[in-house]
Amino acid sequence: ATPMSIMTATGRGAQAGVLIKDAEALERFASVDTLIVDKTGTLTEGRPKLTDVVPAEGFDDGQLLTLAASLERGSEHPLAEAIVEGAAERGASLLSTSDFEAVTGKGVSGTVEGRKVALGNAAMMADLGVGIDRLAGQADAMRAEGKTAMFVAVDGAVAGFVAVADPVKATTVEAIRALHDTGLRIIMATGDNERTARAVAAKLGIDEVRADMLPDGKQNLIEELRAKGAKVAMAGDGVNDAPALAAADVGIAMGTGADVAVESAGITLVKGDLNGIVRARTLAQATIRNIR
Ligand code: ADP
Ligand code: MG
Repeated sequence: ATPMSIMTATGRGAQAGVLIKDAEALERFASVDTLIVDKTGTLTEGRPKLTDVVPAEGFDDGQLLTLAASLERGSEHPLAEAIVEGAAERGASLLSTSDFEAVTGKGVSGTVEGRKVALGNAAMMADLGVGIDRLAGQADAMRAEGKTAMFVAVDGAVAGFVAVADPVKATTVEAIRALHDTGLRIIMATGDNERTARAVAAKLGIDEVRADMLPDGKQNLIEELRAKGAKVAMAGDGVNDAPALAAADVGIAMGTGADVAVESAGITLVKGDLNGIVRARTLAQATIRNIR
């Protein structure tokens, strides 16, 4: 490897907001054959919006949304923000909550004015022994549109569900096509449910999906693929996905906003845009061709 060609490539990258850690990261990214991308915030905007409020018998929209948002005020999850914001836009006034608890990858629970309230995905409801069969059809219809449905339980019985939508970034479809063209196998990984994940993937031309992942699932997936001989890059937000980024042959930290390289990443994209990955891949492959 001539030092000059690598310096030229990293310099060009930096101008475009693509920070490449060192020569090794650049060379490795040229030979990677598999790219794992986190859905939320990487393929999508990461700013979900409340779209639907579907109460079960005995509740109305206002009651359901008030309970949901009162509970979610205690959470910093993007899904929680969507519910709190949606409730504010619809004029709900929130109730005081105690015993707040967050269950990673599943949801939240607490006491809202003396009532036991829980909110989360199907796994959360299963853990609590709350049946959701009555709402399953309606929830599935929304998931088929790429929305995420979250069930609400009050005093041990289902009270309804709320749904949010997180639009895909305008640049994602074209970037995925370009990345496929550079010879990459692309796998979407997400903590979201299978149906929602598949609906989003279909819009993007991604045919491999790993859904319902718990926080260490992405790391396990990377290790599983590497054990089979794959060379794996992982793109995710630098904060939540740091262990997965570190486990990959090349970690790609997306959209840190600031002009700072992320510790566990070989490549840091200043803008959260997948086009940065296309640029990094093109630069890496061109550099390796020049060297050989
Ligand atoms: P990802 O960031 O990959 O989409 P997370 O692990 O953050 O996944 O969340 C996985 C799933 O757990 C969400 O899709 C949602 O169904 C549920 N969940 C997690 N936190 C919350 C919350 N605060 N409110 C409602 N649902 C939640
Ligand atoms: Mg995430």
